[in-house]
Order: sequence, then structure tokens, then C-alpha cells
Amino acid sequence: MYRTHTCGELRLSHAGQKVTLAGWVQRSRKLGGMLFIDLRDRYGITQLVVEATAPAELLAVAEGLGREYVIQVRGTVVERQSKNPKMPTGEIEIGVEAITVLNAAATPPFTIEENSDGGEDLRARYRYLDLRRPPLQRALALRHRLAQEVRSYLDKQGFMEIETPYLIKSTPEGARDFVVPSRMNPGTFYALPQSPQTFKQLLMVAGYDRYFQIVRCFRDEDLRADRQPEFTQIDCEMSFVEQEDVLETFEGMMRQMFRGALGVEIPNPIPRMPWAEAMDRYGSDKPDIRFGMTISEITPLVQGHGFGVFDSVPYVGAIAVPAAAEWSRKDLDGLTEWVKRPQVGAKGLIYIKWAADGSIKSSIDKFFTPEQLRPVAEKAGAAPGDLVLVLCGPKRKAQTQLGVLRIELGNRLGLRDPGVFAPLWVVDFPLLEWSEEDNRFYAMHHPFTAPKPEHEQWFYSDRKEDLERVCANAYDFVLNGTELGGGSIRIHNADMQKRMFEVLGIGPEEAEYKFGFIINAFKFGAPPHGGLAFGFDRVCALFGGQETIRDYIAFPKNNQGRDVMIDSPSRIDEVQLEELCIAIKEENQ
Ligand code: ASP
Repeated sequence: MYRTHTCGELRLSHAGQKVTLAGWVQRSRKLGGMLFIDLRDRYGITQLVVEATAPAELLAVAEGLGREYVIQVRGTVVERQSKNPKMPTGEIEIGVEAITVLNAAATPPFTIEENSDGGEDLRARYRYLDLRRPPLQRALALRHRLAQEVRSYLDKQGFMEIETPYLIKSTPEGARDFVVPSRMNPGTFYALPQSPQTFKQLLMVAGYDRYFQIVRCFRDEDLRADRQPEFTQIDCEMSFVEQEDVLETFEGMMRQMFRGALGVEIPNPIPRMPWAEAMDRYGSDKPDIRFGMTISEITPLVQGHGFGVFDSVPYVGAIAVPAAAEWSRKDLDGLTEWVKRPQVGAKGLIYIKWAADGSIKSSIDKFFTPEQLRPVAEKAGAAPGDLVLVLCGPKRKAQTQLGVLRIELGNRLGLRDPGVFAPLWVVDFPLLEWSEEDNRFYAMHHPFTAPKPEHEQWFYSDRKEDLERVCANAYDFVLNGTELGGGSIRIHNADMQKRMFEVLGIGPEEAEYKFGFIINAFKFGAPPHGGLAFGFDRVCALFGGQETIRDYIAFPKNNQGRDVMIDSPSRIDEVQLEELCIAIKEENQ
């Protein structure tokens, strides 16, 4: 037996027991002739002591131990003289009687402790060493826990876990595909799934009325902290359901995940907000409802006062920042510069200061009297002592900018506590989104989402205004301002699916070539169905109180989409290229 206990297991109640441990040497230090060694495994750290009076042979082995040596230790559990209340094993240590070196280790390139001295790139290159660090081990343990909760819940609800293929054909989730050349069919390519969307719908046609899969998806997009080219979804689909059934089922799943992994009870029921309200009040389709500072429209109150900036736009909106009337000129100039950054894109920022003594000052004093500004500030939800910030422009654009500003202020004012969880369903999304640039409609969710039955008449209309009014039974699960998942009730009728492709400007031939299989399947008795998918990596990161998903993935890619540990992507040799009938263009070599 290599070990009787793990390095995280022993307590005062074990004192006096003979034990054998195995693990990695985190560090060792000499103190008055005694040698203290921290032995680590994924369960914790246990302190080992080699007495100054130990046999010379044992002392020699102990002194020769380097960082990350793998050792086996025999000894007795003893109560510590100076206890460490911060460590679960802090009340005991092991009086070492024998040490076996199982494997020596080269000196690691960075410290493998709670906090490392290694830079991001270095740690990525030695990911297997970084993964020995407790924060990463906690992250992966949380991920494991959550996956188990998902499986146990869905299994109890009668869902079947079914795998779908990776080598497929494009699924339209709005990103670029990763493609894989086929050797056996020269000149042709598989696409890796952006999601199993079409397959899970085919499973519904096949009668597997409750499906789920914890599945890898691939999207060739520009990367950010919360994106990876390959990521994991909890993907689900159900037949004979309405939106309400789907939402209830997955509220239950979320509830079990919060309970099982964090011991947290989330609101019951989870609040719901129509998309239009989310945009109007939060300037975002993924509102963070942990704090107020919501947006108010003030257009009718401020137009017609001779201020051209307001008079020339369709929308003026405001937010009230609590207790910020005293912010200095410098603060406000800084904030103005901030909203002008391309990421926000506002032309400028107007402010109204409503001082605690009731007096009102603003950056638009030339055009408005304090008496005229008071109702504006009130409409924005301000009280004396508050600051009102105003942006204007086309409605959704200005609201989105106010939404970004709101989140920034929430961060600056410490209103976004990662330990507080405020889940929300955003519902009633528009079915379609008009692109001025491309002069065509795009599916807001994806082309398999059905229009709301009561909006069907507009869906078959040829007028742009009618199509813009069509809403879908589409829903997003939002947590603390992050979209964690989304789905919809689907089209299950071949003619309606064809109409959808037509609305999206996908001609009959293209539709047939790309999606003929699903239109065809719908002719053979497709049940009404709907579902959703959660971004599992993001779920894990948010549950762990972090923004970046990289720590929650064992072997992630960096923001250039590279795995620097295995050095991928990399070239392939001529023979492989030849077999695939692929030639690399000179200028790219
Ligand atoms: N396939 C969708 C997505 O990846 C989710 C769904 O509609 O079920 O966003």
C-alpha cells in the first residue's frame, strides 16, 4: 500500500497512529537541527518533521529532498507544539521514521503554492505543474462537482445522455466554423460542431424526448477572458414542452447545482424579465440585477429647450448614481473620457449634480434652469446628494452605452459582490435582428427558433416592420450580468423552417444543401420541442467567483488560440498535406 491516508486527512484525533503518506515536497526548511517538510497532494498539505536526533541515513535522505520530489513517508501522527489554525491539518505533524524517494524532480520553473511567482505564459507551458496548485485544484474540483450535480438531476428527471458526432457539417450559431479536411473524400471538409443543435433536434424526431449531453463545442471566434475556441456546453432538449416546462426544469437544475456545489439557495422562482424591459432599464440583454441604478428615459422632459444635442436625437436616457453629487470635475472629466472610448462609443457625457442641500448644477446650465432639471433628476430616480448621468442617441444604442456605464459604475462603487448570486431569465427575445450593414435579417438566437404562435401572422408578412415585431419563445439564463445559457422553442414544421430560411435570405438551394436533412426529418412526424444549452465553463467560473474561464479548464488555450504546452496549432508534414490534397499558399508559409 503506497499510503494509508491523504495529505489532507489527518487530524488531532489521529495522534499516536502510525501512517504512511505519499505526495510532493512543496518545501522544506531547517530549524534548530530539525527539518520541516510540507508534503502536498490534491487533498491538502501535511507537515513532516525529521528530528535532529534521527538516524544519520534518514537525515541525509531528508536533506537531499528538492522541491516537487515525490516521496513516501512512514511515521507517527503527533500533536504540534505551535498549531496552524489556517490549515485543516494544522494541529498535527508527522514524526518521520522513514522516507522513500519515489521520484526525484527537476527544479520547477515557478513556485507551486497557493500564489505562484510564475507569469501566465510560463505557467501555461508547464500547465501540469500549475495544476498542482491548490486554486486550480479547487477550480477543477468545483467543475467536477457541478458536472455530477447536473448528471444526477437530469438523470432523475428522465433525461438520457446521448453523444452526438464531432465531425459534422456547419451548424449556424453565428460564429466561424473550425473545419477538418477529409482524406477519404479529397477536397471536402467536415465542420466541427458549434453546438449539437441539429442533432439534438433530430433526436427529438427520433423520439428521445429528454436528451442531454455535457459536450465540447467549437467556435472560431476572437478570444476574450470568457471565451475559448473549444468550450463545453450542458446541452439539453425536450419534446412535448412549452417554454414554461423548459424554464421550470432548468431552474430545478440550477437550484441543485447551487445547493450541491455552494450550499447556496437561489430565489424561488427565479425572476423573469422580458427582453425589451432588460434593454430599456438595464441597457443590456444580460442585466446584472444585484444593484439598481436603472436607466430612465427622459426624452420628453429635455427636448424643446433649444439644446441641439437633445433635440436632434430620438432618445435621451439617464441613470442616477447614489451619493455622487460631490464628485469632482476631475472625476467627471475622467468618466467622460471613459464613455468616449471606442468600447463604449458615446460622443460625450452630460451630468446633473443634485447636491444634498437641494441645489442643482449641471453641464447644461446654459439651456436648463434648476427648476427644469429637478423633474429630470427625479425621473432618473435621483434624490438630493445624487449625480445624474445622461447619454443620448438612437434608442438601443444609447441604452446600451448607459448599460455599459452602469456596469462600470457598479464595479467602481463595489456593488457587484461575486459572493452574491442574482439569477434571472430574460424572455421574449425578438426572433430576428436587422443588420443595416448587410441589409438583411439575422436570427437573434438561431434559425431553428420558432416565432411566438401569436406573432405568426407577422412572420409570414413581407414587410420589414412586421418581421421586426415578431418575438420568439426564446430565453436566456443570466447570472450577475453574464449570460450563462440560452435556448428556445423550436420550429418543428418543414414549411415554417423553409420560411425561416427565406426570411434569412438563405435561398432554397442553399437551404437544401446545408439543412435539407433537417427539413426532410420534419416531414416524418417531428414532435413540438424546445431546449437550451448552458456554457459550462462560464457556469464554473461564476460559481467560483471568477471572470476568466481558463482556470476552470484543465488544458485551455491562450488568447491567440494556442496551446503553448503542446505547441499547437502546428504545421503538418508534406506527406499529410499530399494525402489531404491540400497545398499551403506560399505567402502564408
Ligand atoms: N444551440 C444553442 C446554443 O449553442 C442553444 C440552444 O438553443 O439549445 O446557443
